[in-house]
Amino acid sequence: MRPYSVDLPGGSAKKPEVPPAKDRVPNPYRAPRPKDLLFKGLFEIRPEGNSLGFDDQPIHLTLSSLYLWFSDGSSIPLAAINDLSLVQGDSFLKIEFWHSHSEQTGVLLIRPRKFMNVGAKSLLREFESALRASWKRAPKRAEFFGTKENPSRYITGGCEKGDAREARPLSLTSYWSMGIPVVFYASRTQKVEHLLCQVHGERLALRVALQNGLRGYLGLGGVVFAPMVAFQNAAALVKAYPRSSKRAAVLLFGFALPLLGIVAAILFYVAARNGLTP
Ligand SMILES: [Zn+2]
Repeated sequence: MRPYSVDLPGGSAKKPEVPPAKDRVPNPYRAPRPKDLLFKGLFEIRPEGNSLGFDDQPIHLTLSSLYLWFSDGSSIPLAAINDLSLVQGDSFLKIEFWHSHSEQTGVLLIRPRKFMNVGAKSLLREFESALRASWKRAPKRAEFFGTKENPSRYITGGCEKGDAREARPLSLTSYWSMGIPVVFYASRTQKVEHLLCQVHGERLALRVALQNGLRGYLGLGGVVFAPMVAFQNAAALVKAYPRSSKRAAVLLFGFALPLLGIVAAILFYVAARNGLTP
């Protein structure tokens, strides 16, 4: 079975139908899994062309009529794409896109993940033409993102988790590590940009901090990286919501395992002093 498939409607220049209100998304950079699939494949990302914060794992990429979709954590609306080009001897596809939250340009350098790169270039060309065709048919930027005069028919805006209209982009990094280098070691870092109101943003920041605070220290590298991620996430929270009072808690949760260790050591010491241990 071929891992890739192209299924483009035979050259029709028809625009995609406008999705019903319930299918409109608050955050187009974190769209739900699209239903209309035009192309699917396993790709890898070149680190220097990775402004979406992907880790080094291969990504399952899906092309639909409105999105280039990677996971529940990230997608690029086709309307946001500035330019597409094959680079480095046609080995990589460079996707330049506009990010509406930060008003900045992002870059993604990708190529198909193939054993020994056999057939990778032809698949990349196939994908490039499929993406280019969808991009041309997709709604234009002003129509997709909407303007004050003409609100978007595709994006509802607001919080991803609730009905709040006031939402801010919040970048949170998840991190875990396990084992000792040389013997066995694995770690993973993943950054996701959410669009959340302060209530949901603080809640998520605390949850991510606690997960990182417990799982981040199970590997030797975690001693260095888990604290860095804890400070990063605490800073991200304050950047998103300057008046948030949860910064200290997020930071504290980010050190959960070492703090538990210290508490356990103190309890053990006190118990030992009082002759309570065997
Ligand atoms: Zn909310």
